[in-house]
Amino acid sequence: MTIGKNLSRVRQLVADTPSVTPVTLLAVSKTFGVDAIEEAIKAGQLAFGENYVQEGVEKIHHFKPNHPQIVWHMIGPIQSNKTKLVAENFDWVQSVDREKIARRLSDQRPEHLPPLNVLIEVNIDQQKTKSGVAVEEVESLLAKMLLLPRLKVRGLMCIPNPDLPELEKKRSFQKMKQLFDELNNKGYQLDVLSMGMSSDFQEAIQNGATLVRVGSAIFGARDYSTKS
Ligand SMILES: *Cc1c(COP(=O)(O)O)cnc(C)c1O
Repeated sequence: MTIGKNLSRVRQLVADTPSVTPVTLLAVSKTFGVDAIEEAIKAGQLAFGENYVQEGVEKIHHFKPNHPQIVWHMIGPIQSNKTKLVAENFDWVQSVDREKIARRLSDQRPEHLPPLNVLIEVNIDQQKTKSGVAVEEVESLLAKMLLLPRLKVRGLMCIPNPDLPELEKKRSFQKMKQLFDELNNKGYQLDVLSMGMSSDFQEAIQNGATLVRVGSAIFGARDYSTKS
């Protein structure tokens, strides 16, 4: 029952936050089992995000037969030996940050499925160990990705440095929004700006997010101890 209640609370907060465009709520279900996801589906949730390829694919296979309408987003780092599984199973990939991965996803997207929706992950705070492409390199990667026939480039995603103080996190969101607007002003047609998690999704919406990725505020605290 808690998941349903958490979901309505998060939905209400999303609805109460002023925004220019409608906002999609992505429920991040990584490390949570199929029972938790089932509860969220019963409460009307339609879009789920997963970080680990194998775990995500298992859940997709579990839910596809009875819930074909659910939309699955890959939001974690992708190694090139996993692109085929991703291309065959997910509806969206938010974490594309290299041409090689983009090319493989396009090549491996099965013909019977619609083009794979993708976002470019931007390393907005120039974190050394993080995935994501540098701001200066986003446009050239975007231009290359637009040539890939089995991808549909929808927008940008970021994970700001979690250690930044509030004010600077807000600045990171603003930088993302600025980049998003600049690209659209140049004629690229991007409609999704994915930013904001449990601790800051309202702030992200106020600064232009069109999709927020919320995990623990819906499912509770994560336990990574069982992950190998
Ligand atoms: C885990 C994760 C989230 C959700 O984080 P919460 O703080 O639990 O809301 C969002 N985005 C990405 C990329 C994640 O890995």
